[in-house]
Amino acid sequence: MIEVKQLTKEFSIAKDKKLTVLKDINLVIEDRDIFGIIGMSGAGKSTFIRCLNLLEKPTKGSILIDGVDITRKRGRQLLILRKQIGMIFQNFNLLMQKNVSRNIAFGLEITKARYFKIPGMSGREYEELGYFKKRSLKKKEIERRVDELLKLVDLEDKKYEYPSKLSGGQRQRVAIARALATYPSILLCDEATSALDSRTTESILKLLKKINEETGVTIVMITHEMNVVQKICNKVAVLDKSEIVASGYTKEVFGDTSSEIVAQLLGGEE
Ligand code: ADP
Ligand code: MG
Repeated sequence: MIEVKQLTKEFSIAKDKKLTVLKDINLVIEDRDIFGIIGMSGAGKSTFIRCLNLLEKPTKGSILIDGVDITRKRGRQLLILRKQIGMIFQNFNLLMQKNVSRNIAFGLEITKARYFKIPGMSGREYEELGYFKKRSLKKKEIERRVDELLKLVDLEDKKYEYPSKLSGGQRQRVAIARALATYPSILLCDEATSALDSRTTESILKLLKKINEETGVTIVMITHEMNVVQKICNKVAVLDKSEIVASGYTKEVFGDTSSEIVAQLLGGEE
């Protein structure tokens, strides 16, 4: 479970000048949710999601993951934490000089120690294997995991292809596989379908839903596209000018016809 409490983020943009991008955000995201965060461009969505994996440091407030305040983590603790959170982006951010299998393996190869827990592994095994002995993953283990992930995202035939030869949808599948390599419990998606046409969007959303159901990963979806939220998010929060103005079950939030911002977002649908 993710609990965001009174989260505020300010950027100093000039001497004595601050820009408040997130104002007193309170939110609870439960395990296995596909939680949408929707809002207009500039509302603060990307900043919010970047706070969740500490790419940005919150100015005030706390973010608890399973009761632990991650804003207080440093050093190795932070590394371990980051392995529990995967992220994908609008522009995929793949390594263009590496083929598909190397892209997916990347997070596993740079992990000097096994800082993540494999499902089914006991706490003791985890500690023995990774945490204390700091054993790197063996080549064979990495290859096995890569093959598993290729199967999950249905790209087994593209294992040795380079990203430049792939379509947008295929690139996003590679990014999803890479993000999931270390068995994260949370997947953050920042406008993950915004660069894709509607048919490809549909297939990526279907894949994310399948992954959510099969692995139980919690998904946080940032988007400005209403249809994305309506298709897969069980819950949604509306972010408007740095503040959460509505949140709850998707049906209820979008059913509220008195909300001006919801009407605006619905009206903005292409
Ligand atoms: P969204 O993803 O909803 O479009 P962002 O979180 O990217 O919104 O940006 C929200 C606001 O914060 C914008 O006005 C943006 O210019 C500002 N902002 C984002 N990052 C920084 C930064 N590093 N320094 C200063 N201002 C920033
Ligand atoms: Mg953004």
